[in-house]
Amino acid sequence: MANDCIFCQIVAGDIPSKTVYEDDAVFAFLDVNPLAPGHTLVIPKNHHETLSDVPEDTASELFSALHRLTPAVEDAVDADASNVAFNNGEAAGQEVPHVHAHIIPRFDGDGGNPIHAIAG
Ligand code: AMP
Repeated sequence: MANDCIFCQIVAGDIPSKTVYEDDAVFAFLDVNPLAPGHTLVIPKNHHETLSDVPEDTASELFSALHRLTPAVEDAVDADASNVAFNNGEAAGQEVPHVHAHIIPRFDGDGGNPIHAIAG
């Protein structure tokens, strides 16, 4: 855990969040500033800044969780599709330096592209 990391503090329960899913390796919670209903962040519990820093076994656990959570999130909000994206590094718009995937539910005709929005 990195003491100054807001997502580590969420995993530890020191900062409240709306938990979507949790297992030994992965934590998922609702984005506090959602781009769509059900906008979910999926993170490894251990602190790694970017995807390049994540060990391969953790990357597998993260992707496996994404594989299961993406349809579950879509179902929960009755979405038609979703954007699943990483802002990977500061120059790419990553604001919280603890690697995280966004699951952003999409609805037919909702317009726009949240990838642009999350990249800032
Ligand atoms: P990024 O720009 O990819 O680093 O995205 C960081 C995301 O974290 C943004 O969508 C924020 O709304 C979200 N966020 C920041 N603080 C919190 C928090 N305490 N709880 C939930 N989501 C957060």
